[in-house]
Order: sequence, then structure tokens, then C-alpha cells
Amino acid sequence: MSRIVLKAGREKSLQRRHPWVFSGAVECVEGNPASGDTVEVRSSQGGFLAWAAYSPESQISARVWDWREGVRIDAEFFGNRLRRAIGRREQLRGAGTRQAARLVNGEADGLPGVVIDCFADWIVLQLSSAGAWRWRDEIARFTAEASGVSNVFERSDADVLALEGLTPRVERLFGAELPASIVIEENGLVFEVDPKHGHKTGFYLDQRDNRALLRTLSNGHEVLDCFCYTGGFAVNALAGGAARVTAIDSSSDAIATARRNLQNNGLQEERAELMEGDVFALLRKFRDQGRKFDVIVLDPPKFAPTAAHAEKAARAYKDINLWALKLLRTEGSLFTFSCSGGVHRELFQKIVAGAATDAGVDVRVLQHLGAAPDHTVALSFPEGEYLKGLLCQAA
Ligand code: SAH
Repeated sequence: MSRIVLKAGREKSLQRRHPWVFSGAVECVEGNPASGDTVEVRSSQGGFLAWAAYSPESQISARVWDWREGVRIDAEFFGNRLRRAIGRREQLRGAGTRQAARLVNGEADGLPGVVIDCFADWIVLQLSSAGAWRWRDEIARFTAEASGVSNVFERSDADVLALEGLTPRVERLFGAELPASIVIEENGLVFEVDPKHGHKTGFYLDQRDNRALLRTLSNGHEVLDCFCYTGGFAVNALAGGAARVTAIDSSSDAIATARRNLQNNGLQEERAELMEGDVFALLRKFRDQGRKFDVIVLDPPKFAPTAAHAEKAARAYKDINLWALKLLRTEGSLFTFSCSGGVHRELFQKIVAGAATDAGVDVRVLQHLGAAPDHTVALSFPEGEYLKGLLCQAA
């Protein structure tokens, strides 16, 4: 069995069950393991710490599969992990429905590098580590078995693959050919999902509950949905009785899908203004035009993938929040989000507070928002809590 031995004193994070072994903590690698092989991780004193998957090209040299010495990392290990992860989401995913859910959320489900979403009768795998790569076939097979969904598509093309020395794979694994779009149902509304060309696995399932919340606050209001993608928030606002919704995204494909999503839900298009454009520029333009909104959603892309980008990202978050607050009517609601791993919750709240000061408005926080509960976060892996949001009210 190959083995990673840590430098003296570097076992602490593993003892707290943080599942990553950074290259800087590694004293030596014994036994010449290949990429994705299971290795033993031991402290400098020789004590067993974990079984992990070896990633020779990554800054994260190994990711932990299990903390128990007596466990075997074999096909059945993945079968068990997947059955448990999927079992936890059973209530979210009525069999035979068009419901969509995240079935496996990486580290939080004890499966680092493995993200699995279910869209109606399709499974979409997104694998992003050497260990996940090694066990792809077992992961696909057991996921299909445990979920009862037999069409499996792989969408492994996240940017982080390059850091792992892995080549992207986007292809059908088994079952039927992927249709141009899958229709899913979320909180009683339907959405088209394109796992091959869409963002991430095709749809931002993490915003499910926040969209439902927006719906309850939209009646009779003028709503602005910034970074709308395929219209998740905009459709909910209209379904909630919004008087008018303006939705902006820079992607023409996303806007086209958003338009179809409005139509497929039988919502009146004349209440919707879908705009292909740059949010940064359009917020300023709206300000010049003297436009005002009762509810504004800011759900931008990841401005800071890591803490190294936090400063530049902070400026971008502040900018959009500042301009949005200037467009918000008194007593209006702002749903503001960050999905940047490099910007933690406290920092995000500080940035929004700075924007409020500069906009000259008093802002109250009504609710702290996060990802829907199928996107579980392990306490030992706080990095998993990437989506943070605030529901604010301007005074
Ligand atoms: N709110 C969406 C998800 C947003 S993802 C939902 O509920 O599904 C972020 C979106 O921002 C992407 O669709 C991307 O195309 C868009 N985007 C990125 N930069 C942009 C910019 N400067 N202006 C407008 N849209 C942008």
C-alpha cells in the first residue's frame, strides 16, 4: 500500500477531519502511487490518519475518503457512500417526477471532488479530482442504482481540472442520448436545463429556496433580476404576482432560455423585460434614467474563486450593491448574493454595509440566506459553504 507521510505537526487539520492534504504538509510519498490511487496518510510519528486519493499534480496532494483504518476503499465503499447521500435527499426527489436535486455535494457527503445533480430522469456527474476520476465507473453505476435514474451524463469540465492535471470530459456515460433540454420542476414551476452547454451542471439548484422566498415578496412589485441566467428568480417573481420584471444577463443563450421558461410557465411576457447586457453598465444607465425598483436580486458569478482574488472581487461586489441600492425604492428589498469561495460571510456583509454607506441609505438585514439544504455543508469543511446571501430592506 502506498503511503503519504506528513511533516511533523502537520496532522492537526486532518485530526479535525478537514479532508484535504496540502502538498506543503507532505514529508514524503512512499510506494510510487499513480494519480487517483488510494494511499494511507500517516503522521510523522507513524500514526494512521486517513485513507485518501492521491493527486500528484495538485496543490492538494490527497483528499480523504475515510478516517477509519479498518475500512477498504473499494467499489462497495462507493456504493455505500452514494446510497447514503442519495437516501438523505429522498424527500426532495419524488420518484417519477420532474424534480431536481443535488444528490451528492462533494466533501460534505464524504466524496471529495464528486458533485451529482439529478434533473428529472437524468443524472449529471461533475467530477473534479483525481480520486473521483479513478472511481468514475463505480460512481456512475451506483448512483444510477441508488437513485433509480438510469440516464447518466458526465459534465466534468470545471476550471479546477487543470490544477489536477485532468482533461475535461463531457459525454454520455449510459442511458439515452441527452436531449437538447430537460424540463425540471422546482416549487411547481418548470425550467429547461441543458446539462451539456449550460453553466455548471446546467442549473443553479442552490438557489431553490431563495427563489421561493422572492416569490412571496413580489406581489404587485417592480422587480429587477440581475445576472438572471435562465430566469430562475424572474420566473418566480412573475409567478408571485410581480407587476413587472426586468431581467439582465450577458449571455444571449441564457436570455433565450429565460424567455422560454416564462412561456412554459404560462406567464405573461408583457410583464417581463429580458435584456442581454452588462449589469455593471445597465445599473448605471437605469440610474441615469431615474428608474426605481421595489425588489432587486443580485446573483453574480463567482468574482473570487479563492481568497487571493478577494480584494478585486470586493470592489465588484461593492459596485453592484451600491448601484442597486441607489435604484431601490424606500422599504424595497434587496436579495444580494456571493458564491465566491474567497469571500466569507462576514466579509460579504461588510462589503454590502460599505455599499449602503456610500449609497446613503440605511439598510436592515431581514434574513441571512444560503444554499438549499441538499447542498449540505460539513462543519469540518467550511469551504463548502460558498453561497452566502442577505435579504436586506432599505429604510
Ligand atoms: N440567478 C441565476 C444564476 C446566476 S449565475 C439563477 O437563479 O439561475 C451568473 C450569471 O451572470 C450567468 O448567467 C452569467 O452569464 C451572468 N453574467 C456574468 N457576468 C455578467 C455581467 N457583467 N453582466 C450580466 N450578466 C453577467
